[in-house]
Amino acid sequence: MLTLALMLFSGSQAHANDLENLSLEGGTFLIDWRDEFSSAEKQKMRDWLRHMGNVVTSLHGTWPRERIRIALKKYNSSSAVVFGRVLRQRPEGILFYVNPARPAQEFISSWTSYHEFGHLFIPYPGRADVWFSEGLASYYQNILQLRAGVLTSTEVRARYEAAFDRGDKDDRHADLTLGELSEDMRNRGAFMRVYWSGALYFMEADLALRSLPRPMTLDDVLRDYNACCLPEGETRSGRSLAATFDRLSGTTLFTELYNKYENSHAMPAWQTVLKQAGEAGLLAAPLSETAVK
Ligand SMILES: [Zn+2]
Repeated sequence: MLTLALMLFSGSQAHANDLENLSLEGGTFLIDWRDEFSSAEKQKMRDWLRHMGNVVTSLHGTWPRERIRIALKKYNSSSAVVFGRVLRQRPEGILFYVNPARPAQEFISSWTSYHEFGHLFIPYPGRADVWFSEGLASYYQNILQLRAGVLTSTEVRARYEAAFDRGDKDDRHADLTLGELSEDMRNRGAFMRVYWSGALYFMEADLALRSLPRPMTLDDVLRDYNACCLPEGETRSGRSLAATFDRLSGTTLFTELYNKYENSHAMPAWQTVLKQAGEAGLLAAPLSETAVK
């Protein structure tokens, strides 16, 4: 009786505990069904998440954590994955608003999920460094789609080109440094300069790592970071993350680039960086060991 009364009174919260473990090769998604999904819809969501599990593995081989919370809410839209945001409550994960009526293929080709999963590889750096975390997620969203075979090299290059160009055109706040603008990004609607300056930071870092006497990649640095240092439910500033990445790579390039980007008053020059990224094979078709199975 008490149970019945609780169910009646809790209304939509009746679904709050509809949790399911989806165990995959790289780890387990704790699916938190926050709306009523039919069994066919649930199956479609599991298939999509199975694919995304392989995508997460394709970054550096290991999931950022063994258990990742995936909260799913329905949203009536013409997109399959409408939007997502990182959940920092333990276990950390992502809240996705989805339209499960959309075809399965649209879930696979939605860039939003590639972006959101990219966020999980570093801790939240705080609002003033939002360019750092949005940069990492924006940089990897295209790379991960390439590895998943969702985009070709040519398409990836075109995506970066178009995005960096939007960053260039977002020039209304030249009086503010990227660091100052990050803090107030939402109020000022300065998403393009903030996101894509950040993405360029990581592209430049990845390129610099690849031209070291003993070449490394950004994937390698994130793998080492994962193994030693990735906290859960805590923040780390962009500057301290850059310092840790320097220590792990035996360089000073992350901090040097951090200073350059943090103090920039416009989208930094990207044409040469993108050209070099193409020449360095950074935008090339996936290597067999990183390709999504
Ligand atoms: Zn993001």
